[in-house]
Amino acid sequence: MTVTALHATVESAICAPLPVLGAGISVPLATGGERSYAALDYAASAPALKRVWDDVAAYAPYYGSVHRGAGHLSQLSTDLFERSRATVAAFLGCRPDDELLFTRSTTDSLNLLAGALPEGCEVFVFETEHHAALLPWRSARLTVLDAPSGHDEAVRTLERALAARDPYGPALVCVTGASNVTGEIWPVRELAAAAHAHGARIVLDAAQLAPHRPVSLTELDVDWVAFSGHKLYAPFGAGVLAGRADWLRAAEPYLAGGGASRTVTRAEDGGVDVAWHTGAARHEAGSPNVIGAYAVAAACSALTEAGQDRLAAREQALLERLLTGLAELPGIRVLTLFGDDADRVGVVSFTAEGWHSSHLAAALSAEYAIGVRDGLFCAHPLVRTLLEAGRTEPGECGAPEETDGQALSAVRVSFGAGTP
Ligand code: PLP
Repeated sequence: MTVTALHATVESAICAPLPVLGAGISVPLATGGERSYAALDYAASAPALKRVWDDVAAYAPYYGSVHRGAGHLSQLSTDLFERSRATVAAFLGCRPDDELLFTRSTTDSLNLLAGALPEGCEVFVFETEHHAALLPWRSARLTVLDAPSGHDEAVRTLERALAARDPYGPALVCVTGASNVTGEIWPVRELAAAAHAHGARIVLDAAQLAPHRPVSLTELDVDWVAFSGHKLYAPFGAGVLAGRADWLRAAEPYLAGGGASRTVTRAEDGGVDVAWHTGAARHEAGSPNVIGAYAVAAACSALTEAGQDRLAAREQALLERLLTGLAELPGIRVLTLFGDDADRVGVVSFTAEGWHSSHLAAALSAEYAIGVRDGLFCAHPLVRTLLEAGRTEPGECGAPEETDGQALSAVRVSFGAGTP
């Protein structure tokens, strides 16, 4: 396998319908000259949709404080912030009594939910999760489930674990919609049914699913959904947590401060007493990121208007070209948990015999201006499980067995609705 052959395969997969910023930017090559940059690291952060950028630019002169000012621009900004909430809630198929919170990211959303778990709550996660979905529950009664090799096994594994728990206590299952390593789609509806059948609730980590497929709380029957704006073409620092209001309303505010508090008085003991808001404001203390929220809403509108199914079909065609091309190259092993026929989004990780992943990723960047990612993708247990199942040996680049503990690593190519 040569970098040239890999480049030809990967480049043939670059094509997408929605205009994004950065398309066609020229970057210098280590080998001399320049080349148009190919952003193939959407799974980390997707480029901004031009539509998102334009909407934000049009609003920027009217920017003002949210939920705080009496002036015209403050009122306009407050209205825009709340309309953004409604737009995103519609995009996510929220139920009428669901709460939708603007956060910083998926990581933030899941940590917020972790802080809202009822007393004694048990949490169940597969070892395959991104660290953002694996780590926030460590102070709860956490059960980590082995990686399944298919959808049925995933459901059976969860059912077995839930059947063994205290049926009267609260429980939460956290599951990804699409893996940030393999791109494989998880059987969310079936896992939600299993969770509910055993009296547990379920939160969907939609960081990788929402940019590629429609996600509906109502249709999937999940209790919460979390995702990040920057992976959904809205890189202005906002994320989302949406779902059941009861646990959120009963919990201590995620952050203590202005906006979350309804009334604050001096307490008789010399301290302060506070009555907290019950709605979304309870967990949105401080001045909210109105630009970020507006950008997320603009991205949701853009994807809805373009047609998420149409975008997914186009992406599937790109994915098939990429996978077919990779299959023709000697020494490439595409990482998969569920097998070659698995339903995937545009996220593909692979190893190349004779190459250390970091060298290959660096060569793609230096020689072809292709931006991919290498490493363990913040999903160490999953990548280790996948790689140890069919390890490729370090080869011609002379990669050491261990490089900063990362000798086990892969290259990830990811793409979506943007144009190169
Ligand atoms: N969940 C998954 C599946 C992800 O891929 C990521 C990021 O790559 C996250 C959660 C965390 O997202 P963020 O870094 O935006 O908080």
